[in-house]
Formats: sequence, structure tokens, C-alpha cells
Amino acid sequence: MRKPLIAGNWKMYKTVGEGVELVEALLRDLGDTHDREVLVCPPYTALHALSSLLQETPIMLGAQDVFYEAQGAFTGAIAPGMLKDVGCQYAIVGHSERRQIFGESDELINRKLRAALAAGLRPILCVGEIKPQRDAGQAEAVVVGQVKAGLAGVSASELLNTVIAYEPVWAIGTGDTATPADAQAMHATIRGTLAELYDQATADQIRIQYGGSVKPDNVDELMSQPDIDGALVGGASLKADSFLRIIQFR
Ligand code: PEP
Repeated sequence: MRKPLIAGNWKMYKTVGEGVELVEALLRDLGDTHDREVLVCPPYTALHALSSLLQETPIMLGAQDVFYEAQGAFTGAIAPGMLKDVGCQYAIVGHSERRQIFGESDELINRKLRAALAAGLRPILCVGEIKPQRDAGQAEAVVVGQVKAGLAGVSASELLNTVIAYEPVWAIGTGDTATPADAQAMHATIRGTLAELYDQATADQIRIQYGGSVKPDNVDELMSQPDIDGALVGGASLKADSFLRIIQFR
């Protein structure tokens, strides 16, 4: 039984004060979360303050990215151990904005993912095709390639601590969501790839989140698909009422 993971990626939004305000509002109205996991991924600057606030609560803390070295002369980078130290349980790697704006390769993302695992963080590996690739019928090949490259050198036991997020790039921040059927089809393909790389029993335990304009009015249908095990939410995670409704999907 896979426990769905609802994660909010705040991107480069929210000061410390605004982040505290949002988390306080979430905690106030969170309701029963025994059958789901909830995660917020604020900017690095808010991690310390939110870590204190989230102690002994059902909301977990994650980072939006992580570097692969433990320490050193890497100006601007944050080490996996530093994220653990500040109270993070998760780190997103390979978000499409990192791939596109910062030019991150599959190889770099794989190094980040393995470093996160080695430090005891749970990586969320984002994969997804861009619109021209979907239009050209290449979506599956692109996503399968990203999954395989992202997981290179990862053992089955490490995979159990890894989450995959399928985020079609054309659906991110656009209001244009994949249909539940299209999302389900890609999730099933990803699970099939995991079964091929590892084995079916392992693949069946891995959570595959959907991301791309998840909103209160589409979350229930997306989450009703058999291979969709949670949501990675950008815009709609920035307001308490919309994120709470997504957390409380039925
Ligand atoms: C994201 O940033 O991962 C994302 C899915 O954003 P949005 O929900 O705004 O499309």
C-alpha cells in the first residue's frame, strides 16, 4: 500500500515571515492526514524557521534542490548533510526549471540524487517531456530515458527511499493539466520501467507523484488513478486554502 505524498514546491516565493504564516494556516486546518503524507519545500532561507515550527507536526520539510558534494568551494551550493542538519527529510532533484533554466543534465541530476540518498534524504526525482516531444510522440521515450539516467547506480533498497514525480513540462504553471488518463498511462509506463530496472515487487512500492497545474478542482480525479500516488504542487501550494483542499483530496 503506497501512502500518497502531497508536496508543495514554493519555488522562489515567500519570505521567512510569509512562509511561517502559510505553515501556521496549514497546521490550523490540516485535519486528518493518517493515510497521506504532507510535505512543504520552501526556499532555503525559510528552512530553519519552518523546521522549528514543523517539529512534532504531520507536515514534513523538504528542499527544492541539493548539491552532490558534502562540502567545499562550491559557492551558492547547499550540501545534502546541511539539509539533513536543518531538518529536511526530502529534496527535489531534476525539477524542469533546474533542467531548463539552469541547464542541469541527467548526469548531474543523478549525482545529486545519489548524494541525497547517501545523506539519508529522500529524493523526489522529477521527469517530464516538453510539448514538442509530446506532439512528436516522444513523451514516453523521453520520460523513460530520464528515469533510467536519474536512477543509474541506485540500488533497490535506495529506490525504496526515492519518489518519482511525473511533471509534463507543458503543464507546469500553465493551467494546462494532463488528462487523468494520459497521466495514468505515463505513470504506468514509469512503474513498468522500474519493474524492468529492479523487480515488480519493488516497483509496486514506489510512489509516483503527478505534477503540473494540480488544483483543488482536478486533484480528486487525478488521485483516483491507480498509479498516481500523490501530487507535486507549485502555484496552488502557495495559498493555504487551495493547498489544504489538495491535501484533503478524496
Ligand atoms: C511544479 O513546480 O512542480 C509545478 C507542478 O507547478 P504548478 O503546480 O504551478 O504547475
